[in-house]
Amino acid sequence: MGNLLHRLLLHSLLIIGLCPSILWGQRSPSFSSSEKDGHFILPERASFYEGPQPFDMLSYKLDVSLVMVSDAFQGKCTMTMRLKSNVDSLVLDAVGLLLDTVRVDGVPKTTRPDSAAESFIIYLNGTRNTGDTLRIAISYRRALGYPRPSSRQGYYFFLDTLGMPANLGYTFSEPSDARFWFPCYDEPWEKATAEMNITVPTGYVAASNGKLLGTTNNGNGTTTWRWREGHQITTYLMCITASRFAVSSLPYVTATGDTIPLQYFTWLPDSAATANFLPTVRQMVGQYAALFGEYPFDKYGMTSIVPFVYLGMEHQTLTTMNRYSQTDQRVVSHELAHQWWGDLVTCGTWRDVWLNESFATYSEALWRESLGGFPALKSYMRDTLNGFQYGSWQGAVYDPVGQGFNLFDQVVYSKGGWVLHTLRGVLGDSVFFRSLNAYRQRYASKSAITNELKAVVDSVAGLDMGWFFNQWIFGPGWPKYASRYSWTPDTLTLTIYQQQSPSWPTYKMPIKVRAYVGSSSTAFALWDSVRTQVFRLPLASMPDSIVLDPDGWILKQIVSPPSSVGEDERPLAFQLFQNYPNPFNPTTTVRYSLPLQGRAGVGSFVTLKVYDILGREVTTLVNEAKPAGEYAVSFDARLPYGNLRGGQASNVASGLYFYRLTFTESGGSTLSSVKAMLLLR
Ligand SMILES: [Zn+2]
Repeated sequence: MGNLLHRLLLHSLLIIGLCPSILWGQRSPSFSSSEKDGHFILPERASFYEGPQPFDMLSYKLDVSLVMVSDAFQGKCTMTMRLKSNVDSLVLDAVGLLLDTVRVDGVPKTTRPDSAAESFIIYLNGTRNTGDTLRIAISYRRALGYPRPSSRQGYYFFLDTLGMPANLGYTFSEPSDARFWFPCYDEPWEKATAEMNITVPTGYVAASNGKLLGTTNNGNGTTTWRWREGHQITTYLMCITASRFAVSSLPYVTATGDTIPLQYFTWLPDSAATANFLPTVRQMVGQYAALFGEYPFDKYGMTSIVPFVYLGMEHQTLTTMNRYSQTDQRVVSHELAHQWWGDLVTCGTWRDVWLNESFATYSEALWRESLGGFPALKSYMRDTLNGFQYGSWQGAVYDPVGQGFNLFDQVVYSKGGWVLHTLRGVLGDSVFFRSLNAYRQRYASKSAITNELKAVVDSVAGLDMGWFFNQWIFGPGWPKYASRYSWTPDTLTLTIYQQQSPSWPTYKMPIKVRAYVGSSSTAFALWDSVRTQVFRLPLASMPDSIVLDPDGWILKQIVSPPSSVGEDERPLAFQLFQNYPNPFNPTTTVRYSLPLQGRAGVGSFVTLKVYDILGREVTTLVNEAKPAGEYAVSFDARLPYGNLRGGQASNVASGLYFYRLTFTESGGSTLSSVKAMLLLR
């Protein structure tokens, strides 16, 4: 599905161009960009992967009749399943549907709805055994007047009196609304084949997933459109879109010579524009096929409709496009990429939704790269980064809902897309794209969870990438880097600071650094892994400038160096600075710097202690080995300290105190420095 920016854009388009209240009437009283958000928060099933359900769903066959003058419909859903354990009842999903008859292998069965769980129970009147194949046929109707949320209609219907060229009916199910338009097992980890026979008044086109097997004129003013998705498909990707469409078509020929039709179902006024756009779609399919493996399905179709609260939805082989974005390359490339990432390989749970959306979002950038090369990719990613410090980007990419974000929040679109770019930077193109292909091959026609992607990347890279996934996928935030450098003949001394919140990870990252000297430059590959890290690098000349991550692979912010010893770039010395503020009450900050000792990053032992005027130790502020660098530590006079007032813990009284820094070099010699500070309560 298109991301939040798309939806915000759509929202403004609707406000500018059309009045939402006219578009939506009483049907959707709360139109907002976040309307979809939130409704997916359903109770998680006990075990969320590999299916807690006692069956494998093999196929769905839907026979649906749409009257196309109201939102009424009736249908028959035939499910075939194979049992994984012995059962005497089955739980399936349905909401707002009247189940007229339920038959299992031809025998009528009783059911009990469980509306709180949006499901129903079928009683089998006896035990069916592991390995049995069951055929469940349910005749049903949409319950009129059922209080569906406006954003969870499942099936949406609009009359042409709203200003469209024709009446329009369509389904929209992500993440958990398929159950509003057909009885099913409505979870992303479960897939089956699907046959869709859709009867509409003759003159209407009813588009759906997979191949068109044919149309049948029923001789009673109706026509049945017969579609079959022979590839595995999960319920939220099934769809019906019906209106008086014109159809444009263009063949795409695969590398092995197979022809796959590209189709665009649009209203007649739009058909010239969308037909002219199909060659671009064909180019996109070819580009993604080259990157991700051949296009995996039997057709790629798009429908263009309005009103529709999103800019696109990646129904398998039949993306629903918003009429406003029907030729928008960003949206079209995003939804097309979902055919691989989301449809062929589906997120195993909604916690893993980034496996759909981050991949589709990064694919937008890959399409741009295919047009304009690396500079286009770099600038596209930089543009995406411009808004990154806001809102949900601060969260982890994994499990947005568990963190209180919306399922379709920016954290799984822009941030997750950026993290994939960062992963590509770490792995290099060869390993990155081989990983994508191995992931596709391993989980094609299935669903995958995050750790399964990680395992594939591990195996292709020959490395345990846990460090990467832990900080970038399961951890919040991003690194905020600052740097400081100095040069002495033949040596560049570079300090890299990580200044992000302490509650965010300390990032372990390979960082490329480029030192510019006149018209030439020298690159260094560094492994940065602590909050303050010093590197000594061979460099023959004084650099004019130093740039971290010059090619822009890392999701990051560059911030100013820590303020302290002035902005000059002189080599670090052993220094203890005057506390600030001074006098103080009740807290003050002490800064100091440590010079290089031996190998870069290998520190020497440092203590910083506070004494009262009688020479008693109040507290130890620092007592550890530290690398060269500049540091700051705060002293809080409110805290209770021992060793005062006859050994009892106490906070600190007004008066003069001393603070003493000692520095033991690796050779054993010790430097120290003392300053005074005044506490005035
Ligand atoms: Zn999407």
